Amino acid sequence: MEPCQVLCTNGSDDVLNFAFMAFCDEKTPAAFPDITYGFYSVFAEACGISYREIPLREDFSVKAEDYFGLSHTIFIANPNAPTGLTLSPFEVEEILIHNPDHVVVIDEAYVDFGADSCVPLVARYDNLLVTQTFSKSRSMAGARLGFAIGCPDLIRDLNVVKYTINPYCINSMTMAAGIGTLADGEYTRRNVRTVMENREFTKKELEKMGFFVTDSSANFLFARHASVSGGELYRRLKEEGNLVRHFSRERISDYCRITIGSKEEMEAFCASVKKILEVVG
Ligand SMILES: *Cc1c(COP(=O)(O)O)cnc(C)c1O
Repeated sequence: MEPCQVLCTNGSDDVLNFAFMAFCDEKTPAAFPDITYGFYSVFAEACGISYREIPLREDFSVKAEDYFGLSHTIFIANPNAPTGLTLSPFEVEEILIHNPDHVVVIDEAYVDFGADSCVPLVARYDNLLVTQTFSKSRSMAGARLGFAIGCPDLIRDLNVVKYTINPYCINSMTMAAGIGTLADGEYTRRNVRTVMENREFTKKELEKMGFFVTDSSANFLFARHASVSGGELYRRLKEEGNLVRHFSRERISDYCRITIGSKEEMEAFCASVKKILEVVG
């Protein structure tokens, strides 16, 4: 990887925002899944760019063929949020091949928790931009450090936007912390391993209690239960001191997104869920 293929920014939200500014306009609107990271529509609206929402399939998967020949700038979170589901790099490659004249942005905020990165495809596809962040697997959300990897032309375009609006977007303390965490890969790998183990533990426990849980490759689970609505589960868990996320959007209003914590936290969470099911079930 050459420096001209990388741009570091104030969190990956910053570079995603730059990508909306640099690669979308009236003739090239944005396209992204109907259920995905909430900031894509926020960035599009802030930039005055129209966007098309491509419905996830019934099982919440992103199907590559739904993105073929769209004539849009495509944004896909992989793993997707809040479902945790992934596309393989092979499927992403199909999307790239079928959109040769349009930029495809793959947002890999959660990639370290069990998905395969599309970064190796950058060498072969000049329409691919991959974004990653230090906020999730590296536990540095407050430091604000993210980056994009793409061909030199795409990175040059993003730099034009950066130097126009915010040339010094990363402070030197964050740079030092970022270099520090890169030097201690074992620490990150251990944390990621723990999160993945606790995720699989929690998934099994929830399934034993009758939940349907998507096959998540992220640091959260996405789950629903036939006898309690997502909203009610969210409210009752909050009363018990467990904060999960509920989305009111109709397609996913039966679900809650459960962020994975320590083993003790997940055991306490499962005990709360069991108690709630005894009351409402
Ligand atoms: C958290 C997140 C981001 C951005 O995080 P930053 O803290 O700005 O790096 C981008 N995309 C997705 C899908 C995320 O979950």
